[in-house]
Amino acid sequence: MPASLRPIFEKARSGGVLDADEGTRLAEAPPEALDDLLDVAGFLRDRGHGRTVTYSKNVFIPLTNLCRDICDYCTFAKKPGDPMARTWTPGEIRAISRKARAAGCLEALFCLGDKPELVYESYRETLRGLGFEKTSQYLVQACAISLDENVFPHTNAGLLTRDEMAALRPLNHSMGLMLENVSPRLMEPGMPHHGCPDKVPRRRLRMMEEAGELGIPFTTGILLGIGETARERVESLIAIRELGEKHGHIQEVIIQNFLPKPGTDMADRPEAGEALEVRTVALARLLLGERCHIQAPPNLNPAALGRLLAAGIDDWGGVSPLTIDFVNPEAPWPGLRRLESLTTDAGFQLRERLGIYPEYLLERRGFIDPALLERTRPFMDAEGFARPLPTTAGPG
Ligand code: SF4
Repeated sequence: MPASLRPIFEKARSGGVLDADEGTRLAEAPPEALDDLLDVAGFLRDRGHGRTVTYSKNVFIPLTNLCRDICDYCTFAKKPGDPMARTWTPGEIRAISRKARAAGCLEALFCLGDKPELVYESYRETLRGLGFEKTSQYLVQACAISLDENVFPHTNAGLLTRDEMAALRPLNHSMGLMLENVSPRLMEPGMPHHGCPDKVPRRRLRMMEEAGELGIPFTTGILLGIGETARERVESLIAIRELGEKHGHIQEVIIQNFLPKPGTDMADRPEAGEALEVRTVALARLLLGERCHIQAPPNLNPAALGRLLAAGIDDWGGVSPLTIDFVNPEAPWPGLRRLESLTTDAGFQLRERLGIYPEYLLERRGFIDPALLERTRPFMDAEGFARPLPTTAGPG
């Protein structure tokens, strides 16, 4: 290990809060420092979470894949007229929620495009046909349908206003928005978020702040390898840390690696590979501390799962036995049995959680609507994890 890094590792190990300069030195450290970085990260994870790694069994419901933004790496968003463009009907939401319940899923992930009604008249007509003016209003009905089937919503619908979040809160275990990166540089011409009004970092930070003020358990994270610098990754993680310290609502932080997709403007860019993902997970553990829940999606870097555990994650995120990852349709979920054996073989216990982490169901109940908490009780165990329920489908 370079001797100059030793004080930073010692500070992190003893629970000290690293600043942006220290984080950047770790992010830019030579490869020979990686073992020590992982060693400290694993130590902190074990101290904060023991040897338990969680996941949520979910159903992915992309309410609409129309979107007003045009991120250079995205294949999820479609335009009206595209044969793949789709807005789910209430009947389809009911049907998939019933299937999800039968398959033992307890989380309905509503992940969708951002405010397509602002740019597409045909979509406005679709919404009006359903009785709504705005996607966020339809979302309230969609969440109510899934909740009625005892599949608990987690909404990630892009930028929402305070009032929109307040309307969704009683129906949602938690909500989410990837910060992706705090740097406005990524909005400049030639950068991936150019022309995407909902990707302005300060607007995303404001939504996260308002979610904190509303007491909504919140999932966020960063996207690696889209043209950001090491310093910008560190500053993004610190911005998330500061919001969590202020409001206590950041329930988990996702470290997601960019994968280039054919047909996009970034198809020829290199993927954010295993080395960057593993290093950034470990860096996040040191910057965010032992109690933070840190997640790496298990379908986006499937060859690296053992290394991601070693780097300090304590959560695999949502895994569905029923639906694909509509944002990364080329990346299948690992089967739950495989995920369990892999996790167990690495010396951890895999436990199913709900779309809200146990501490928000137990000691921090101000973060969940009282009626929703009552509704959740039959589906949680005494420790706040998911209670195994009989299913009519295999675990995948
Ligand atoms: S990444 Fe999200 S916000 Fe960007 S175009 Fe795709 S769906 Fe829209």
